[in-house]
Amino acid sequence: MVAEIIYGKDLANGLRSDMKEEVYDLRQSGIVPKLTVVLIGEDPASKSYVKGKQKAADYVGVDSDLIELPSETTEKALLELIEKLNQDDTVNGILVQLPLPKHIDEQKIIEAITPSKDVDGFHPISVGRMLTGKETFLPCTPLGIITMLKSKNISLEGKHAVVIGRSNLVGKPVGQLLLNENATVTYCHSRTKNMDELVKIADILIVAVGKESFIHGDQIKKGAVVIDVGVNRNEHGKLVGDVDFESAKNKASYITPVPGGVGPMTITMLMHNTIQSAKLADARR
Ligand code: NAP
Repeated sequence: MVAEIIYGKDLANGLRSDMKEEVYDLRQSGIVPKLTVVLIGEDPASKSYVKGKQKAADYVGVDSDLIELPSETTEKALLELIEKLNQDDTVNGILVQLPLPKHIDEQKIIEAITPSKDVDGFHPISVGRMLTGKETFLPCTPLGIITMLKSKNISLEGKHAVVIGRSNLVGKPVGQLLLNENATVTYCHSRTKNMDELVKIADILIVAVGKESFIHGDQIKKGAVVIDVGVNRNEHGKLVGDVDFESAKNKASYITPVPGGVGPMTITMLMHNTIQSAKLADARR
């Protein structure tokens, strides 16, 4: 069996082109979606992610503002900035690029963003709404993964989904979204004792660990759907995921590549959330 590759990049391009038309129409009716990104410090990976987000915003026609601040920025100054952005009616989405410098309490910052502009979907109110199956901004990477699965009509109901990784950003919410789609979900993490047994019986395997070649084809069930969230640099400086793609693709029914899989979908979902936020803000006026 050779897996069908789910090219997130192609799906993302299609979605972005639909969004571009939608934003054009919104602008005609006076609705101008705007995303403000706050970047603290000089981390090259964060800079590159922010650049990708701005490029996507430019393409779809979402106004984007980048506020770059030095790494010495105090927590108080950042909280004041967020409050200003919360009050600014022209801003629909506020994104503070993570990780933040050690002296700033990340959770405090996440909780300072008003839920109506929480396009990352990290605020406890957004998370709680997701947990109870209510409409809310869903976190971008998990939403991108569900969108990819749905694009291939992969049925989730009653399937055994195994999620490796339990971060608040990826693992936990993607498991929750799969549960909301009626999958049976198992989480694995660094303390899991029988991970191999669980991986072997996964119909859907989500790998969000951050370790190159963490999963090999011989570990997975024949016909499994494999979603590789990991982003790692290998010894040659090449971008690779957490799954050994070559061995896994001969065993899986569907698989996502790295690069060109989950990554582009994440940014696209950020645009989706920002556009939704602009529409909701307009409806509240
Ligand atoms: P993270 O916060 O470091 O979480 C990693 C998770 O992996 C933790 O839950 C950890 O378990 C688990 N883990 C580590 N070693 C393990 C082991 N030996 N066995 C089982 N589980 C293990 O990372 P993250 O933010 O979730 O990101 C995961 C990966 O996805 C990274 O490579 C990141 O760059 C990538 N990512 C990609 C996108 C995208 O858009 N493509 C977006 C976000 C993240 P414990 O909780 O027990 O420590």
